[in-house]
Amino acid sequence: MKNGFRNFLIVIITICGTWYIIQYAGLGLNLKGIRSAGSKLYLSEKDKSSDADNINIDKELVLVNSEHGLGKYYKPESLTIPDISFANGVSQEEKHVAGIIERPLEELVDAAKRDGVILFGNSGYRSYKSQENTYSNRVKSQGEKLADAYVAKPGFSEHQTGLCIDITNQDKNIIKGTKEANWLAENCYKFGFIIRYPYGKKSITGIEYEPWHIRYVGKNAAKYIHDNEITLEEYLGK
Ligand SMILES: [Zn+2]
Repeated sequence: MKNGFRNFLIVIITICGTWYIIQYAGLGLNLKGIRSAGSKLYLSEKDKSSDADNINIDKELVLVNSEHGLGKYYKPESLTIPDISFANGVSQEEKHVAGIIERPLEELVDAAKRDGVILFGNSGYRSYKSQENTYSNRVKSQGEKLADAYVAKPGFSEHQTGLCIDITNQDKNIIKGTKEANWLAENCYKFGFIIRYPYGKKSITGIEYEPWHIRYVGKNAAKYIHDNEITLEEYLGK
């Protein structure tokens, strides 16, 4: 009876132990499985996003034009509002620029001021979504042909990079020959910016002369582009 009871206990303990080990090991495997599935998902999402959205990104030298677009989800790193004056009616989103151009832009605006030229920010970063809205509104009001002539398709506006900004003056009218346009053309390279769509270069840039649209490319590239009177497309050999 005593032995029988002891054997009975041994059998019970063995069964419970085996059950416990199977459960524990199984749970362990499950947890491990979940963890690896989780990190795989995270990595693949991340990889997907960098493949699809960041493929053209080479920091300040990224080329965005009608042939080189950005992904739908591309958003510049550390978007920030620079400490400059903005024209009336500028949206909160458009006050933002990529963090990398914040200081150079502030320095540019300060230097212009010292020369008696007052510049205002007019439109910096524009998200894919807002470009999509602008484009589709223009298509509705003027038709696709006119919309295509004046508005970049979503993903193909340089403003999505956060590396450029449209500058304006007190009259909200920077055109060829104004002192603000002249100052920008002569000086913006010193701060790492270029006039992205220069006069007479539409056949290369695809865009009419825009004396107000300045684009950050870094000081070395900006000086080279300025001194040689070329475009970003030519500088990059594209
Ligand atoms: Zn612009």
